[in-house]
Amino acid sequence: MFSFSICSKQHLLWHRRAAQIGLLWLGCVLFFAVPSQAQRTQLKAPWNIYSPQTDVQVGKQNADLMARKLPLCNDPKVDAYLTMLGLRLVDKLPTRGVQYPWEFHCVNDKAINAFALPGGYVFVNRGAIEAADNESQLAAVMGHELSHVALRHGTAQASKAQLAQGAAGIFGGLFGGSSGGALLTQGVALGAGSVLLHYSRTDETQADVMGTQVLYDAGYDPRAMAQFFEKLQEETKGKNPPQFLSDHPNPDNRIERVDQEIDKLGGPPANGKRDSAEFEAIKREVLALPLAKRIAPVTAAGGGAPPPPPSSHFAEYQGSGYSLRYPDNWGETDQNGGASIAPSGGVVQGNSGDNALAYGMIISMTPLKSDPSDPGALGNATQQLIQDLQKSNANLRVVRQPGPVKLNGQPGLSTYLSNDSPVGGQETDWLITVIQPQGLLSFLCVAPQAAYSEYDKTFSAILDSVRLAK
Ligand SMILES: [Zn+2]
Repeated sequence: MFSFSICSKQHLLWHRRAAQIGLLWLGCVLFFAVPSQAQRTQLKAPWNIYSPQTDVQVGKQNADLMARKLPLCNDPKVDAYLTMLGLRLVDKLPTRGVQYPWEFHCVNDKAINAFALPGGYVFVNRGAIEAADNESQLAAVMGHELSHVALRHGTAQASKAQLAQGAAGIFGGLFGGSSGGALLTQGVALGAGSVLLHYSRTDETQADVMGTQVLYDAGYDPRAMAQFFEKLQEETKGKNPPQFLSDHPNPDNRIERVDQEIDKLGGPPANGKRDSAEFEAIKREVLALPLAKRIAPVTAAGGGAPPPPPSSHFAEYQGSGYSLRYPDNWGETDQNGGASIAPSGGVVQGNSGDNALAYGMIISMTPLKSDPSDPGALGNATQQLIQDLQKSNANLRVVRQPGPVKLNGQPGLSTYLSNDSPVGGQETDWLITVIQPQGLLSFLCVAPQAAYSEYDKTFSAILDSVRLAK
C-alpha cells in the first residue's frame, strides 16, 4: 500500500511535470484523507460452501444446545451489559451486508474463555469478565469472537471437513449414522459443534487483526487486544492453561501482529477508551455471583432426567411443503428440508458420543425412486425407507406392518417399529408416510417404550395438525 511519504514525494514530481496528471493528484488526496482506511489490513473470509443463512441455522441449533448444557449466569444485568458492549462492537464489524441475530450470554464458569457460534451466538465466561482489567480488554476478547463470526470461520472449517468426508457430510442426512442403535437427529450433534469452534492459526490471526480494527473503530484503545493475550500467555505458564487457547490456537507472533496492525491504523488513538463505570459495576456483580452447581448434563445417556410433560399450548411450524403445530415447550430444528421437534432433554448423547433423539419427532423428505402416480409407490417407498433406516440401526424391527391412515385427508401409511432407546431399554417408533410431489414425506415419532403412552396423544395431536401443501 502507498504510504503517506511516498505519496507526497510523487506529488512533488508530478507537480513539476504536467497538468495532465491531475487525476493522480486526486488519488493522492484521497489517500491523505483516509490514511488508516487505506493502510489497514484487508481481510478476506476463507473458502466456504455454506450460505450465511446456514451459519445462523446451525449456530442457533448449537446455541440452544449450549444454553441447556452450560451453566448460564442467569443475571439479566450482566447479559444486558454484554449485549450493549457486543452491539457497540458489532456496529463497527464488517459483516458484508449480512444481518446476524446476535445473542450474548454470560456463562457461570470461572475458566477464562469465550466463544461465538456461527450466526452470532456469543457466550462469554464469567472468568473472562473477571480476568479483564478494564472494559477495553473485555471488548478485545469479544471483538476477536465477533470477527470469527463475520469471517464465518466456523462454517469455513466445516466446509473443509465436508470436503474431507465427502457427500455424507458432517451435518449428515436426517437419518445419517447410528448411535447405540438409536435414530440420530441431524447435525445438532456436538460433533458439528466442535468442528464449528476449532479454528486454524490463520483464522486466529485474522480474528486478532479484525478485532483490533473493530476496537479501534469503536473508540477503544486497541492495545487492549495485545494486553489480553499477554494475560492469557501468562496463565499458560500455570498448571491449567486457559480453555480459550484450546479452541483458539495461539498463532506465532500473536502480540507482534496486533501491534503491527495498530501501527497500520496510525498508532493508538490519543483518547482511546479503556474503562467504564459500567464495566467495573458488572465485574463486581459477576465476582459476587454464586458458583454454578455442576449441572448434570441433560444429554447423559441413561442417567438424564426425562423431559418435562408436553405443554398443551402449541406453536406453529412451517416446513417445506407442510405446516404443523407442536407443544410450545418443545424446540424445532431445521435441516436439509427436514426437521426434528423435541422436548428439552429429548436429544441425548449416545454411546458413540453422537446425538440421538430419545423423545420427539423427526420429519424428512426422501426422493422417490418410482413414479409417484404408481399405485404401489407409497408402499414401496415406505419399505425402502425402513430398509434404509435398518442399515444404520441394526436392531430396528417392524412391530406392526404398514396400514392405511389419512394425513390431512391424503392417503398415508402407519407403521410401528421398535429399536434400542439411547436412554436404555427399547423405544417405540411410530412412522407415518405420505407421498408428496417432492418425494416421500415421513414423520417418525420416537419415545422410550415405557413412556410411549404419555407421548402417544401428543404425537397424534401434532399429526392431526399437519397441513400439506396442495
Ligand atoms: Zn479465536
